Amino acid sequence: SAMPDEPHSTTRVLSPESQMPVTHFSRRARWVGDQAIGFLMQQAVENRDCVSLAAGLVDEDTLPVEATRAALDSMFADTYTGRAALQYGTTAGTEPLKRALRDHLAHLEGRDLGDLDLDSIIITTGSQQLLALLADALFDPGDICLVAAPTYFVFLGVLDGVGARTIPVQTDTGGMCPQALDAELGRLDAAGELDRVRLIYVVSYYENPSGISLAADRGAKVVELAAKWSKRQRIHVLEDAAYRELRYDGPELPSIWSFDTTRESVVLAQTFSKSYSPGIRVGFGVLPPELRKVISELKGNRDFGSASFNQHLITHVLRTGRYHVHVERLRDSYRAKRDSMLMSADRYFSGIPGVSWTRPHGGLYMWMNLPEAVDTGFHSDFFRLATRTEQVMYVPGELCYPTLCEQRLRNQMRLSFGVQSADSIDEGMRRLANAVRKALQ
Ligand code: PMP
Repeated sequence: SAMPDEPHSTTRVLSPESQMPVTHFSRRARWVGDQAIGFLMQQAVENRDCVSLAAGLVDEDTLPVEATRAALDSMFADTYTGRAALQYGTTAGTEPLKRALRDHLAHLEGRDLGDLDLDSIIITTGSQQLLALLADALFDPGDICLVAAPTYFVFLGVLDGVGARTIPVQTDTGGMCPQALDAELGRLDAAGELDRVRLIYVVSYYENPSGISLAADRGAKVVELAAKWSKRQRIHVLEDAAYRELRYDGPELPSIWSFDTTRESVVLAQTFSKSYSPGIRVGFGVLPPELRKVISELKGNRDFGSASFNQHLITHVLRTGRYHVHVERLRDSYRAKRDSMLMSADRYFSGIPGVSWTRPHGGLYMWMNLPEAVDTGFHSDFFRLATRTEQVMYVPGELCYPTLCEQRLRNQMRLSFGVQSADSIDEGMRRLANAVRKALQ
């Protein structure tokens, strides 16, 4: 069970035996766990010959230099628009961008959104900032978040960082299972803990790490269940749609948000990081009325608004249509890389018993299951074999489960096809299969 005052993620030693005065850290600072991402980056830097299938970066070759240069030229061709981009903006974001986002969202949703209140849109520094602000707004230590398992490990860290209890919900090839969600909420109700449940977190499209999307008939059920169990206080749904626009094949899926007809329960988080450029750090959210003021005030305390320069830039590429042209190109490029990874997986792994993998229709990741005996964790023999002997890097699957999760599987890996070329993907997969064969000997 979780102890809110002393969560598992406490990592800093705070009381050395010396006479020197030492810094007293806040509970929040102590709850920031080991940043696995830092460790992975360090391994990559120290180990240049290693083929990284771990990095979650986007493809270098398709970054939109031309479109961005054109946008900047145009922004600064005019003194008035140049000055506007260099001035402070408002905390929730510039109005022209909000209008452009409403149109963009209408395009993605395939319906008119003229009735969507511009005040419901908030522009954030990447979608990561929105996830963190929402966690700050909703969780006191010990409060509960329900998540798919596996799920986006950086958000699991955010939840640890606010002292939340994170409870995994059974997940299959259609994403989070509504029946299991219902059962879990019922169990929490019976245990007298329903009032501590604040949020259901779902990465609805091509999940990081599994590549799985929420099945078309599940979005409505998630919204219904959030309403059903919102008895004395509201349980919100956070739909993280970071990979929504990176669709390579398969059906166009409805958002969870589209089923929230009163727009009171679902927070929709999106980003331009994957579809345009992560360096620009523009994300946005659509917020239910109850949350707007608090989220905006929390953001105000931190930064009084995301860089208006970057907001002008994104507005420009959206309005000129350059953005949409870019996303089309990007899809073709990532689709080819996804196909390369699938082909290499077939080539090198189909002969190894007990290995299986997902066939994602979008996003940047494939999820691989190894035989149960193979532990893929940072301290495992397999990790050493892969990274030191075979020189290939992956993200250990166990990172993508809540720390206190009993169903935490240790024999899985997240493999990214976003960064490497087709040849490097093939080489990486060949090395990885060698490591698996060696581990099984
Ligand atoms: N959600 C998911 C599922 C992600 O994979 C990422 C980036 N790795 C983010 C949110 C945050 O990205 P950003 O802040 O760049 O929008």
